[in-house]
Amino acid sequence: MIVSGSIDKVRKIIKKAKQQGKTIGFVPTMGSLHCGHMSLVKRAKKECGFVIVSIFVNPAQFGPGEDFKCYPRNLDKDENLLRQEGIDLIFYPKDDVMYPRDYSVYVEEGQLSSKLCGQFRSGHFKGVCTVVTKLFNIIVPDSAYFGQKDYQQAVILKRLVSDLNFSLKVRILPIIRDKDKLALSSRNRYLSEIERQSALSLYSSLLLAKSLIKKGQRDSNEIIAAMKKLILSKKTAKIEYIKIVDIQNLNNLDKIKGKLLIALAVYVGRTRLIDNIIVSA
Ligand code: AMP
Repeated sequence: MIVSGSIDKVRKIIKKAKQQGKTIGFVPTMGSLHCGHMSLVKRAKKECGFVIVSIFVNPAQFGPGEDFKCYPRNLDKDENLLRQEGIDLIFYPKDDVMYPRDYSVYVEEGQLSSKLCGQFRSGHFKGVCTVVTKLFNIIVPDSAYFGQKDYQQAVILKRLVSDLNFSLKVRILPIIRDKDKLALSSRNRYLSEIERQSALSLYSSLLLAKSLIKKGQRDSNEIIAAMKKLILSKKTAKIEYIKIVDIQNLNNLDKIKGKLLIALAVYVGRTRLIDNIIVSA
């Protein structure tokens, strides 16, 4: 396994793999890897002859006051995990390799980015679209792997691939959860014992919503009210949003119909957590 922060070197290695007829699988991450990331890595490994994982805590997708500085970083551990999976290459660029001093070009998606998390994290998806475009241009993968955990990000990147004519497949894989059903996230390590107990209410509220829909409830506001009640019964939880939306355009749905996404963002203490579920009515 090669670990490199050099764009030129990475391009040369990938060119060689392509000349050998290998398909290129790519998993972009911010590192501090857990089983959620590894599920993407394993699938890439299964489907592609040459697998690249990028580890880059992208400053452009963090807003002022967010956790860019203290975001967990652990390259040694990540390297070991990826070596065990037989990954071919880790791309681990420094900030100034991706964003040199005079950097001035950004990529912005104009419809989906203002919904859900976009209402509260201004500029976040612009940062995501910019870095992923750069990574796609450096690596030129055949397939790229993303998690449903960040559902909005995944659909925005699908749109980016189609609107900017990238020639690659976007794969979206299911959310991996811990034993207690909390969605795995690099940020879970910020949680105290008590906060973690409160955080379990995110998934319980999604399951509650699903069961209400299965029982015939068709009023989104009623469902959201029941979810709020459950989450707010936990100390230290503060809801940023709970939305029931169309899975493609992310528009709010007042009435439950067809296949839909229930998505939420909740602060537990100072930690912002997101989770979601797709339900068919
Ligand atoms: P991140 O390092 O947080 O930028 O995540 C890198 C990729 O891993 C993204 O496509 C995430 O959606 C995905 N991911 C993060 N957590 C999970 C999880 N619990 N299950 C599945 N995929 C995940």
